[in-house]
Amino acid sequence: MMNKNGMVTKIHTRIRTDPFTSNYELLGRELGRGKFAVVKKCIEKVTGKEHAAKFLRKRRKGEDCRMDILNEIAVLESAKANPYVVALHEVYETNSEIILILECAAGGEIFNQCVAENDEAFTEKDVIRLARQILTGVACLHRNNVVHLDLKPQNILLTSAIPLGDIRIVDFGLSRRMDSVTEVREILGTPEYVEILPHVLSIGVLTYVMLTGESPFLGDNKQETFLNISQVNVDYSQDAFEGVSSLAIDFIKTLLLKTPRKRATAAECLNHPWLNGPADLYTQLHASSLPSLDEPETSQSESEPESPAPS
Ligand code: ADP
Ligand code: MG
Repeated sequence: MMNKNGMVTKIHTRIRTDPFTSNYELLGRELGRGKFAVVKKCIEKVTGKEHAAKFLRKRRKGEDCRMDILNEIAVLESAKANPYVVALHEVYETNSEIILILECAAGGEIFNQCVAENDEAFTEKDVIRLARQILTGVACLHRNNVVHLDLKPQNILLTSAIPLGDIRIVDFGLSRRMDSVTEVREILGTPEYVEILPHVLSIGVLTYVMLTGESPFLGDNKQETFLNISQVNVDYSQDAFEGVSSLAIDFIKTLLLKTPRKRATAAECLNHPWLNGPADLYTQLHASSLPSLDEPETSQSESEPESPAPS
């Protein structure tokens, strides 16, 4: 069931109403928090396995948000086969909250390592592997007509930090299902979503931040930063990209194009030579057989790229 806003509210997971604490032991430390949720580590009593419990308030600013939470659950369910989306284990409901029991991504937000000092910061080789995983995960969501709409370093987690593990995409609170990728493109172009960076653009931003530890759009003040974002004005100065390969910069430029319809799809981005260099021994993904988008930005003759066929 999908309403006209792309929200899906029919879920398959049984919502448990027995107390969550009879099956899980909460561990003190918070794993993180966002606008409406607190996430805490917990142990499932029967298995001894670690999980992350995301506590979502049903009422926010006096409004009933249960449907939004059901949508988040439905999207997680539909992404069960996606290796880079956090797994949903169970759901509990109390008078005031819905609690999602999620796979614990113990490595935390990639954000932390993006801004870390040299010896803990990502190497370019790390970023190549993580960018491939993010693109593969997002391409897989798009194949299922799901858009995340909130891809940022706080919503991309790691299964482990040391040694560096794999990525897990979390926080499907703003996600929507679209009838087709074409419709996704149309909706992303509407003023409603101006403040939400379209997917491939946001992956470009993520890659930029992972490589440089800086935001590509940061201006001297809020106004300037906002202008840089809305005009996709990216800082490509030597300073920012010290020690970063020119292929990496070219990859970012491919993603951070000003004209939305000229941007490559997530699946196409996986073909970029930066992610497929001779030193890159990581598994080739099925998306690599898709045509690459190597037209110059000024090209008049571009055709709208097709959505990748489901594999
Ligand atoms: P919100 O919708 O409020 O932003 P998120 O789902 O993004 O909630 O969770 C908030 C924060 O909690 C994340 O940025 C992350 O730091 C942490 N977190 C969320 N899910 C997990 C998880 N499965 N494992 C570990 N930490 C998590
Ligand atoms: Mg979040």
